Amino acid sequence: MRLIIMGPPGAGKGTQAKFIADHFGIPAISTGDIFRANVSAGTELGVKAEHFMDAGEYVPDEVTNQMVRNRIDEPDADPGFMLDGYPRTLAQVEELDGMIKFTGHALDAVVVLTVDEDEIVQRLLQRAELEGRADDTEDVIRRRQELYTEQTEPLIGVYRDRGLLIELDGMGEVDQVTQRIFEALDVVPQS
Ligand code: AMP
Repeated sequence: MRLIIMGPPGAGKGTQAKFIADHFGIPAISTGDIFRANVSAGTELGVKAEHFMDAGEYVPDEVTNQMVRNRIDEPDADPGFMLDGYPRTLAQVEELDGMIKFTGHALDAVVVLTVDEDEIVQRLLQRAELEGRADDTEDVIRRRQELYTEQTEPLIGVYRDRGLLIELDGMGEVDQVTQRIFEALDVVPQS
């Protein structure tokens, strides 16, 4: 099973990605989480990514693509993966196509969570307090939303044209959203 979850920052992608990935026994691969782990560990990759992340900008495609390529080459991703936060640009879509084609597989679905902008900003500000993320200040939040609209939203049309899109309401309780996703994917949720 090869899945992507998309939606603006704060839409709850990470939480849902884990539920879905657990259900299918595949890894949830969050590029944001991998970058943050590398920043914490002070790796070369972390050093390259940190200032982009802190400013709410996208890390350059060549850095991000190579990281994803390495991650999906790991044996635990042989049965598939749930990508959270990748692809975010049209260039990344092409790269991912190449990676998947190389393994002889295909994408199964792209889940898009649609949410209310105001509620998103609220969620992000709350998360900033809880997690103290450097990229959750108000200016950075605004920049991340802007970049999503400019660079990532157009990907929805690409996947819609391919007949892969599952667009659903990301508002409401976490388990309600999970339920909607499972229904749309036509699977019975695990209790
Ligand atoms: P996230 O946790 O998914 O919101 O990602 C946090 C930050 O990591 C983003 O604001 C970007 O700076 C960087 N990042 C994550 N995924 C990507 C990507 N696919 N392309 C470029 N930058 C990314």
